[in-house]
Amino acid sequence: MNKEQRKLIQRAKDFAKPFRVDDGESFRLKDIDPNNTLHLEQEHKPQAKEALALGVELLAAFQDMLYAQDRWAMLLAFQAMDAAGKDGTIKHVMSGVNPQGCQVSSFKAPSSVDLDHDFLWRCNLALPERGRIGIFNRSYYEETLVVRVHPELLHQQTLPEPLMGKDIWKERFRDIRHYEQYLSNNGVVVRKFFLHLSKKEQKKRFLERLETPEKNWKFSANDIKERAYWDDYMNAYEDMIRNTATKVAPWYVVPADNKWFTRIVVAAAIIETLDSLDLKYPVITEEARQHLEAAKQQLLNEDKA
Ligand code: ATP
Ligand code: MG
Repeated sequence: MNKEQRKLIQRAKDFAKPFRVDDGESFRLKDIDPNNTLHLEQEHKPQAKEALALGVELLAAFQDMLYAQDRWAMLLAFQAMDAAGKDGTIKHVMSGVNPQGCQVSSFKAPSSVDLDHDFLWRCNLALPERGRIGIFNRSYYEETLVVRVHPELLHQQTLPEPLMGKDIWKERFRDIRHYEQYLSNNGVVVRKFFLHLSKKEQKKRFLERLETPEKNWKFSANDIKERAYWDDYMNAYEDMIRNTATKVAPWYVVPADNKWFTRIVVAAAIIETLDSLDLKYPVITEEARQHLEAAKQQLLNEDKA
């Protein structure tokens, strides 16, 4: 990385740090303001867009090394209330990366096949291979969110009765912590993002979806139903973060009322993570170098023949 890039990496780290939670114990959701933009005001939006463009370029450079090195995989899980901007954030932040090295999996309501397995099963199938970035648009964390807010969903899972006791959430959190530790021990770097939207901004975005013909398709009547459970969701999110934010798999709780800001923080967090891996292009052995030289000579000799 050159000097300019190193400067950008330092800026990214400064941006991501206030929103990283790697020890859940003292975490309180009320400490994070969804409208926070650090020191940046609305009028800084154009500069923010420029910074994002630079960040996207840097991310692409990192991804190239991740792919070439073929040792680490990176899993990014996105969770949020409806209209918080998961899709747009994924689209913008990953816009520069090589599609060959990146895969997005969206997890919707589970199918009957999914429900016939343990709750991590379908996500486990979608894990990124070494050298790749895997994005989960929603994830196994739904199992501690929507399923907790709507206990009838738990009953649809047809778990054996004795396993549905009062400690089930504690057990799921513990299982998730262990699963993420396991992934981490196997070179899968896990980072989780909660795009934290205010209830007021969600209303504004829903109205926009209803009033703009090009956005009508994004609206679902179910979203309004879920909005009615707002407080239950916030409690579930807080408990989830308190119980699953760890050093190996931190949460980033990202203010989501301003899309331009959300995107910068997410890009910064990914850059911070990739930088921590000390990625390098593979160095070839002397023997391999000689093979390259021989191949070059063979090509050059073609002209002489
Ligand atoms: P999104 O809402 O993520 O932008 P979408 O609107 O295209 O995507 P939906 O059909 O709304 O897709 O699917 C997402 C829904 O699936 C969410 O309401 C989510 O709570 C639900 N869901 C995801 N995982 C689970 C799960 N494990 N159990 C029950 N419901 C789940
Ligand atoms: Mg939806």
